[in-house]
Amino acid sequence: NLAVTIVGGGLAGSEAAYQLAKRGIKVRLYEMRPNKYPPAHRTSKFAELVCSNSLGSDVLSSPAGILKAELRELDSLIIKCADQHKVPAGWALAVDREAFSEEVTSRIGSMPSVEIIRDEVEKIGGGPVIVASGPLTSPSLASDLKALVGEDFLYFYDAVAPVVLRDSINMEIAFYGSRYGYGEDYINCPLNEEEYQRFYEALIEGEVAMRHEFEEEHFFEGCLPVEVIAKRGRDALRYGPMRPVGLKDPRSGREPYAVVQLRQDDKEGRLYNIVGFQTNLRWSEQDRIFRLIPGLEEVEFARYGVMHRNIYVNAPVVLDEYLRLKGFEDLFFAGQLAGVEGYVESTAMGLVAALNVFCLLKGNALLSWPRETAIGSLLWYLNNANPKSFQPMNINLGLLPPLPKKIKDKRRRCEAIASKALESLRAFMEPRSDLF
Ligand code: FAD
Repeated sequence: NLAVTIVGGGLAGSEAAYQLAKRGIKVRLYEMRPNKYPPAHRTSKFAELVCSNSLGSDVLSSPAGILKAELRELDSLIIKCADQHKVPAGWALAVDREAFSEEVTSRIGSMPSVEIIRDEVEKIGGGPVIVASGPLTSPSLASDLKALVGEDFLYFYDAVAPVVLRDSINMEIAFYGSRYGYGEDYINCPLNEEEYQRFYEALIEGEVAMRHEFEEEHFFEGCLPVEVIAKRGRDALRYGPMRPVGLKDPRSGREPYAVVQLRQDDKEGRLYNIVGFQTNLRWSEQDRIFRLIPGLEEVEFARYGVMHRNIYVNAPVVLDEYLRLKGFEDLFFAGQLAGVEGYVESTAMGLVAALNVFCLLKGNALLSWPRETAIGSLLWYLNNANPKSFQPMNINLGLLPPLPKKIKDKRRRCEAIASKALESLRAFMEPRSDLF
């Protein structure tokens, strides 16, 4: 009775462990925390969310919502625990991060076929292995992986947004509300033109923290530091994280010139993160510059924004369509390391790798997911992206196959794609009742 080794108890590793264990497969789950911590993790819990507490949109009129719906059909542990510990966030699925990770940890801990080993894996050994050590894989394992996959192993950076205490926000200036009157979930700090100009000038002059360890700066478009966006032009922020559209300041009755939004970060609503304000500014500079935002003059930071490395493989070169390292029988990659971006995408790749390992152990054919599904589309991207410019990818409409008949309205188009995706997924699962 062979045990499957899973390296990393993050989003992907936890999902993979659950999917294998619930099918009766023995799992050895290695997690190095609390003995060693990657630079963004703070707890010893499984599936710790290192930045935002939002898992993204949860409506079928968005690709992220389709992916979640598919994962619900597939009995994903991560989505189940997220649903159980959600906090208000408009149409997004956001969670109380502590309660969520605690839930994942206790559910996995109570599965008899999972052996949890709190140790760093420095070298990949034999037997079926799923490597899910994430974008912050420990340096010794990273160098072993580099030797395994060769020259196509890449590095880049991500940035984390600051979290502040709600009680320190001046609600005489800031106001509650979501865009287009869709609820009251966000705290909004309005800026007039003069205030925006002052903030913008301070931001582009702000002193950034030193980067070390890594030779090359390589930002991912979806997670640009706020100061980098600002440097693209005076109005770049007003069209990005500070866009005011759909928000009315109740005091003036008008749309502000620019807005900084804060989103609830814990169940009690004591912590709020500054949406889209991931940053590499020095902490003292964050104190100075972010307090120029009206309403945040006296704000207290629970956690400052920081920059981190991000490690992933060049999937189109090194992985096959089953997330298996080419040339190996039973060595799989999952999570962000496999070349996707995002909590839910990483989770999905944990599930895919686990089901393939299960099929392998049972002597069955590995799974080719329907292209119409969000999961199939992510796998398609990993296999077919241009290896020269390969970057981890969130699920998006550009990855899902277009409909035969064009629907102009984006929401309706996405809903039609969602129906097709879920229909294909069910058709895929139905004849495989031994697996699903
Ligand atoms: P992780 O969740 O990081 O799990 C990997 C696990 O492996 C960790 O628990 C780690 O301790 C463990 N580990 C590492 N090396 C070893 C080893 N050698 N031996 C044993 N254990 C090991 N995505 C979003 O959707 N929203 C965000 O806001 C967001 N912010 C991010 C911020 C940062 C700083 C980074 C780096 C990424 C962010 N991402 C975000 C991207 C990505 O979705 C998350 O990193 C996600 O957690 C990836 O899931 P994973 O399972 O691949 O890795």
